[in-house]
Amino acid sequence: MNLSAETDPEKLDLLSTFESVNFYFERAATLLDLPPDERAILRGPFRELQVELPVKMDSGRWQVFNGYRVQHDNSRGPCKGGLRYHPSVDQDEVRALASLMTWKTALVGLPFGGAKGGIACDPHLLSSDEKQRLTRAFVRAIGDIIGPNQDIPAPDVNTDAQTMAWIMDEYSARHGYTPAVVTGKPPGLGGSLGRGEATGRGVSLIARIVCDSLGLPLRGAPVAIQGFGNVGSHAARVLSEMSARIVAVGDATGAHFCTRGLDVAALLEHQKAHRTLEGYAQSGAERISNEDLLALDCDILIPAALGNVLTAKTAPHVRARLVVEGANAPTTPGGQQVLASRGVPVVPDILANAGGVIVSYFEWTQNLSEFKWKLSRVQDELEESLSRSWEEVLAASKKHNCDWRTASYLVAIERVATATRARFLS
Ligand code: NAD
Repeated sequence: MNLSAETDPEKLDLLSTFESVNFYFERAATLLDLPPDERAILRGPFRELQVELPVKMDSGRWQVFNGYRVQHDNSRGPCKGGLRYHPSVDQDEVRALASLMTWKTALVGLPFGGAKGGIACDPHLLSSDEKQRLTRAFVRAIGDIIGPNQDIPAPDVNTDAQTMAWIMDEYSARHGYTPAVVTGKPPGLGGSLGRGEATGRGVSLIARIVCDSLGLPLRGAPVAIQGFGNVGSHAARVLSEMSARIVAVGDATGAHFCTRGLDVAALLEHQKAHRTLEGYAQSGAERISNEDLLALDCDILIPAALGNVLTAKTAPHVRARLVVEGANAPTTPGGQQVLASRGVPVVPDILANAGGVIVSYFEWTQNLSEFKWKLSRVQDELEESLSRSWEEVLAASKKHNCDWRTASYLVAIERVATATRARFLS
């Protein structure tokens, strides 16, 4: 397909997730005048592993799962990226998410490349023991290509600190005690203070920084958040601590809306007790669909669940004044085009949700130096890192007269290209 900014948004929505990331890559690479051979080197992943994972289930029967690890680029440091457990995981999605990690780590100036992993499974149908056996089988299968100086996994959709502890333990059984092989571990096992909330806190900080820059007051600003997992729930909590008004939140079971503002503490309690928001009740709040949530009249919309939710079909209904991408790839190129034509600015995923990998970097450095940071240091350095990155994105967007996503890719690609040239091309 010959794609340009003028292409029909619905046609752009036909791109796969990896093609979508490369659509953004090409736009920025063109503005940078990057030669075709350099584009070819930077665009594709340098290593992909697909593994078969036979797992003995509690019933005594064996079930085979497919696992993936894609390492996109390591020119600026070891590969870094999360591990996702979801039925929709496939090679294309993992490849796309790995390349997003390359651009994200470069944009926020971390000494890492990009990677991603995933296992196609429905974790809600697995017992904790089955999840543990599956995770350990995955580590044995990809053990040769991960390590503190090679590739460092972290939590993503449906994986958490416990999953990271199993990975660390399985890897350490072969290599000796190695906490730096993975980040997002429990604090008692070398995890950084503040890592659990880092992505959601980062989303909230960037929302505040961008609102300041746009002259949009955050106090009392209505905010709608899709997704109430690791990212969405912490974003809701931190934004409400910043005095924003959380008018809607949703999860896989549907959404809740209250124009006065939802009681975030009560939502968190309900989520803790029931694992979902199903059955949550609050006087004055009503049930709405996740599609309705995207179309609410609010100041800030935060998609923080899965990808491809703001599309050529849904973006025309968005009434928010600002979109902050908590999830990875929540906006398709078609959706982005519609939002741009309607003047709705989008803070792209590679900036908005970079808080997680920034604090993962802090965790990795703490593990390597065997030194523990205070929570206040983690939070201060996270804020400083995001503020600096935002200033760089804003400057690039003014210089090249482009949107914030293109500007973010410009900054990131320039850094990866510089390292690649110095290492391989000169
Ligand atoms: P999670 O598994 O903790 O939570 C996912 C949430 O999305 C849950 O509330 C779930 O119910 C909801 N959800 C699932 N399907 C949905 C649907 N169809 N409609 C509405 N809600 C739905 O995952 P997470 O770690 O919070 O990740 C969310 C997004 O943020 C993903 O795109 C992930 O790649 C991205 N991200 C996560 C991190 C991290 O540190 N965890 C870092 C960067 C980016």
